[in-house]
Amino acid sequence: IRFDELGLSEQIVKATVAMGFEEASPIQAKAIPVALQGKDLIGQAQTGTGKTAAFGIPILEKVDPKNKKLQALVLCPTRELAIQVADEIRNLSRYLHGIKILPIYGGQEIVKQIRSLKAGIHIIIGTPGRIMDHMRRKTIRLEDVNTVVLDEADEMLNMGFRDDIETILKEIPEERQTILFSATMPKPIMDIAKTYQKDAELIRV
Ligand code: AMP
Repeated sequence: IRFDELGLSEQIVKATVAMGFEEASPIQAKAIPVALQGKDLIGQAQTGTGKTAAFGIPILEKVDPKNKKLQALVLCPTRELAIQVADEIRNLSRYLHGIKILPIYGGQEIVKQIRSLKAGIHIIIGTPGRIMDHMRRKTIRLEDVNTVVLDEADEMLNMGFRDDIETILKEIPEERQTILFSATMPKPIMDIAKTYQKDAELIRV
């Protein structure tokens, strides 16, 4: 299936062409239509399947650049992944105007991050520990977040982020879309899905 058959805005389709994507990957073809409807979803997909665009595109279609508050939060296990995901979403947003995307991770100077956050960021891609730190400092506020993604959820649990993830999810308004991606689906992941998602659709590739 081609990107122009998925009901996306012209600017997003143009970005996929510029990035050399010829057609939607299987996870994208299945997940994008579900996510565009605002439904919760569980995507079982490995890295390399195109999972980032599978959640990145629906986020970009939903973000309102006129609202200067944080609207989407993507949680991932490592600094490397946060940077990579932020780059991919930025690339996909190249023909959209005024959408601000920022990776936030531990090990980077917090003062520098706080300065960047003041620009009015729409989409944050971050590691749970550092996001928690900013929540405590009130330099990240989650009250306007309407989409949350847990990327590589199994890896985040393996790295001991379960409590942080649950604390963050509890702080996000219940009227939201919750998307979970994981390569494996052990019981702790299904427990998180059951507790924090509503009627999630399971998509496997
Ligand atoms: P991911 O699984 O999201 O880490 O993506 C793996 C790589 O595939 C990244 O370099 C993407 O830019 C690229 N990619 C994502 N979707 C497509 C697509 N539909 N066609 C070709 N390459 C893609």
